[in-house]
Amino acid sequence: METHEDCIFCKIVAGDIPSAKVYEDEDVYAFLDISQVTKGHTLVIPKNHTKNIYETDDALAAKLFARVPKIANALKESFQPTGINILNNNEEAAGQSVFHLHIHLIPRYDETDGFKPNWITHEDKYDLADMSSTISTNL
Ligand code: 5GP
Ligand code: ZN
Repeated sequence: METHEDCIFCKIVAGDIPSAKVYEDEDVYAFLDISQVTKGHTLVIPKNHTKNIYETDDALAAKLFARVPKIANALKESFQPTGINILNNNEEAAGQSVFHLHIHLIPRYDETDGFKPNWITHEDKYDLADMSSTISTNL
């Protein structure tokens, strides 16, 4: 297991910090976020430490994301939300505060449930053809 000494989520995986478990298998751990944005707000993490999406290899990403539908359905069954938002913050500028990759599962109930993405569009500002020729796809 790849762990990081000062990482709070590595400590949760190791059981050194208690957590409310939602799901666990060999590679993935899911637990309730200590600051519940909505009822059932869950974090899904790889057991192996990786900082964020930029530092995650294909195999780990595949394992992690493969578990999300199962966990989302478990939350749906348990809490009967009417929808769910799935969110992943990478780097401080994007709101990442714990630097161990995690996916937020945020069950949604109604307009006043506590979560509302601020989705402002700028159609006139960006040229799509120009952008697509700029993006590096040398992967
Ligand atoms: P981020 O802001 O990095 O996307 O999300 C980190 C999340 O981890 C926050 O929503 C925060 O509430 C949660 N969190 C931080 N420390 C703990 C902890 O010790 N236990 C649990 N269950 N969640 C935590
Ligand atoms: Zn970690």
